Amino acid sequence: MVLAELGGRITRAIQQMNNVTIIDEKVLNDFLNEITRALLQSDVSFGLVEKMQTNIKKIVNLDDLAAGHNKRLIIEQAIFKELCRMLDPGKPAFAPKKAKPSVVMFVGLQGAGKTTTCTKYAYYHQKKGYKAALVCADTFRAGAFDQLKQNATKAKIPFYGSYTESDPVKIAVEGVDRFKKEKCDLIIVDTSGRHKQAASLFEEMRQVAEATEPDLVIFVMDSSIGQAAFEQAEAFKETVSVGAVIITKMDGHAKGGGALSAVAATKSPVIFIGTGEHMDEFEVFDVKPFVSRLLGKGDWSGLVDKLQEVVPKDLQNELVENLSQGNFTLRSMYDQFQCSLRIPLNQLFSMLPGISAEMMPKGHGEESRVKMKRYMTMMDSMTNKELDSPNPKIFNESRIMRIARGSGRLVREVMEMLEEYKRIAKTMKGIKIPKNGDMSKVIPP
Ligand code: GDP
Repeated sequence: MVLAELGGRITRAIQQMNNVTIIDEKVLNDFLNEITRALLQSDVSFGLVEKMQTNIKKIVNLDDLAAGHNKRLIIEQAIFKELCRMLDPGKPAFAPKKAKPSVVMFVGLQGAGKTTTCTKYAYYHQKKGYKAALVCADTFRAGAFDQLKQNATKAKIPFYGSYTESDPVKIAVEGVDRFKKEKCDLIIVDTSGRHKQAASLFEEMRQVAEATEPDLVIFVMDSSIGQAAFEQAEAFKETVSVGAVIITKMDGHAKGGGALSAVAATKSPVIFIGTGEHMDEFEVFDVKPFVSRLLGKGDWSGLVDKLQEVVPKDLQNELVENLSQGNFTLRSMYDQFQCSLRIPLNQLFSMLPGISAEMMPKGHGEESRVKMKRYMTMMDSMTNKELDSPNPKIFNESRIMRIARGSGRLVREVMEMLEEYKRIAKTMKGIKIPKNGDMSKVIPP
């Protein structure tokens, strides 16, 4: 997952600092140098990293800290605060209101994921009861209208565009007018992207903005953009008044730090992140839980929200009960897979405190889903005793052969599933969840 490596390095640097007895200037400097290296290697812009280092040094003045102060905690809190400050411009983005037409314009380079993100944004709001509509003012890219039309049809969202009209301003104005008449409360305008920051793109973008007077301009940026991000975001901001950022492809292997720099460049908050190609692979972005996750501290509130959104209540209760008893059996794993199949797996695991990328089940996205379904088929061939046993040693040769036969899988595959279970159970063991399911009181491993 994007940024997981950065999070892992920061967490390790904090752990290393925790291993030394006395925190002096040298320990603090080593720690800050490691964090600086990690941020720079993740493509966060140099200026930002330098500022962050200075600020932390200001907060953590070792000489001024009286004995008895928990220096580690103060350093940890300082880094948390600084990462949050980097990502939070301090003013919220415009939020569309129901029953009042809002126009939201999307801008960004070609391939950033603008068209896909427009539909995700419309779909997200539609689920929340908005009457959303999409306008395709991208007349530059052949096939842009077809793509938007296809996505919109799938999500049952009204759309407007043209195969013949080449003037994007005309289409944008016509579309916005039509949907205002139809009493839509969220009208989303997709604009053209170009491979580079061409002057013609910016001029066209400026004209569409002038003609449609959007309430919000969203800058869509690919997380893999690297060090060019700061400059690119600044260029967009200078032409149209960008009010929010959406970072796409956070599920990929890019470093992602560059996109974080974009926030600083546009002085606008990140409001969502894209975590896959599918319509619902789209997450609300909140700074504090995000930084918390980055530092390996988990995001229980996000997890609970997500669980409540997608998982039936009885299944939630069962999962919480199992976890709260510290009793992670194969049946717990079965329940968890059932939940996970409703929540993208990378989201689920990144929300669990203390769980870093290395602890995630091997394989990502679709691959993990296929694997989970395969494991569940094998577990369907187990007896209740096997499912509820806290001891995997009961799986002798004859049991394994029976499960393999029953599920039509190979003995090797059953053994692989049991190994994966042991690995996940070990990770889960350290997490303490209160019996009442109050996730705010969870104790990480
Ligand atoms: P546009 O040129 O900016 O409109 O970009 P598109 O919406 O056509 O997206 C370009 C490619 O990126 C498509 O193949 C999308 O499916 C893909 N894409 C968009 N968002 C995401 C995301 O969050 N994750 C992943 N993995 N792919 C994405």
